[in-house]
Amino acid sequence: MKTARDKVVAVHYTLTDDAGQVLDSSSEGEPLAYLHGHGNIIPGLEKALEGSQVGFKSKVTVAPKEGYGEQNPKAIFEEPHASFSPDMKLAPGMQVHAEGEHGPVTFTVVKLTDTGVVLDGNHPLAGKTLHFDVEVVDVRPATKEELAHGHVHTGHGHH
Ligand code: ZN
Repeated sequence: MKTARDKVVAVHYTLTDDAGQVLDSSSEGEPLAYLHGHGNIIPGLEKALEGSQVGFKSKVTVAPKEGYGEQNPKAIFEEPHASFSPDMKLAPGMQVHAEGEHGPVTFTVVKLTDTGVVLDGNHPLAGKTLHFDVEVVDVRPATKEELAHGHVHTGHGHH
């Protein structure tokens, strides 16, 4: 079966940055299963897998615009210390969650200053060229329920 829209595709992958540092990998656990053609994964990777079959192995380089987008400098801002609960032990690199207009949003703490906390609302991989080592391990038709939800249901519950 070939990877196409409405197929559930399972891949093992290792993601590295330009310096060859591993950012993420499925090799220690379950493959990543996603619903093809529904924007469940970044466009650059989805395109590279189109038409592939079980056993397909590839090295895929994804530019930021086909990945997590360019970094938006406007998404980096300072929030006064008073906005945070005093028991929060904030440190650079930590992620904080807030309720945004369109649901929960995640910010990365950049640094603490005398006046506040510098937060970055960009995706941690925004602006990065991504290098995937990918192998297709399963391709199956999606169930009706999966198509209705627009995502894969695995044995681990869902959502
Ligand atoms: Zn669902």
